[in-house]
Amino acid sequence: MENKKELRTWLDDINLAHPLVIAGPCSAETEEQVLKIAHELKDSDVNYYRAGIWKPRTRPGNFEGVGALGLKWLQKVKEETGMKTCTEVANAAHVKLALEHDIDLLWIGARSTVSPFIMQEIADALNGTDKIVLVKNPVNPDLALWLGGIERLYTANIKNLGAIHRGFSTYEKTKYRNIPEWQLAIEFQNKFPDLPLICDPSHITGNRKMIFDVSQTALDLNFDGLMIETHTDPDNAWSDAAQQVTPNTLKQIMSDLTIRKETNTDASYKDSLESLRAQINVADNQLVDLLGKRMTISREIGQLKKEKNVAVLQSKRWNEILGNMILEGEEKNLSEEFILRMFKAIHQESINHQEKVIKN
Ligand code: PEP
Ligand code: MN
Repeated sequence: MENKKELRTWLDDINLAHPLVIAGPCSAETEEQVLKIAHELKDSDVNYYRAGIWKPRTRPGNFEGVGALGLKWLQKVKEETGMKTCTEVANAAHVKLALEHDIDLLWIGARSTVSPFIMQEIADALNGTDKIVLVKNPVNPDLALWLGGIERLYTANIKNLGAIHRGFSTYEKTKYRNIPEWQLAIEFQNKFPDLPLICDPSHITGNRKMIFDVSQTALDLNFDGLMIETHTDPDNAWSDAAQQVTPNTLKQIMSDLTIRKETNTDASYKDSLESLRAQINVADNQLVDLLGKRMTISREIGQLKKEKNVAVLQSKRWNEILGNMILEGEEKNLSEEFILRMFKAIHQESINHQEKVIKN
């Protein structure tokens, strides 16, 4: 699928002065809850009202959604507030029901995007629809799987498409529920610059306190919109309680966000930017040069280890390096998380170089 301007038409047609906003509860719980939240969001920037009807829970025994009944509540939301509606679909039966209830936008969840079989089943069920369909990234950081999902839908003649970035799961504990891996979203944008890209800070952070910051980062990276879970009583929500915000908080977040233009034609801005970018280019070249030198030294160490029949991995030495670099990093305002990730990558590359020397 090469890039196509037509993919953006649905978003351009809405012609917004602000990023697209999708908000509403993680799950539809009761008719009263769905309508109450909707009425509180009616006079806000919200374009699409979300509510999960079928909930993919990681472990059984938790609330798994109200099912098709909730689709009637979403229809009521549209009648009473005029807001368009959306929900997650995870199989052909969901698609059929959602279309019958005239849901305006459907999204495919992270646990579905990982499965090409499910993606194909959903694409076949949606074939030719003019509804908007958004594909969340798969739970694992696999760009090809995400792109593959979009391509299956495109091939099934679904042209009102978009993607949702909801972060990726990791074994390591981090401050995020699902780490953003922004570089992956940037790569995604580079592949399909015309495909609308929405950020879901709720599932990235898992924590309502971090929603604003992640939303701002997304807008700074030219995301087209935000999906933010919103509940009138977040602490007592039946799913994802810690990450939901109240309608008032959502309105505050939207008014506090800085919406930057993609470019600015101002001449002095351009001059300063060019000069700073030139400095960045120099620094980047130096970085690559230094890394190359470091690997040359690594190979020499590999040669020594080979001669003396010593193992490549020396854990004690490695932990010393890490500890020192975290301290050095702190002085330069570099986060521990960044230092750890960077040095793990450097260390892995070093091991690869040494293994090559030892094997030859
Ligand atoms: C959701 O949006 O409520 C949801 C289940 O998200 P994800 O598929 O990103 O986990
Ligand atoms: Mn949720």
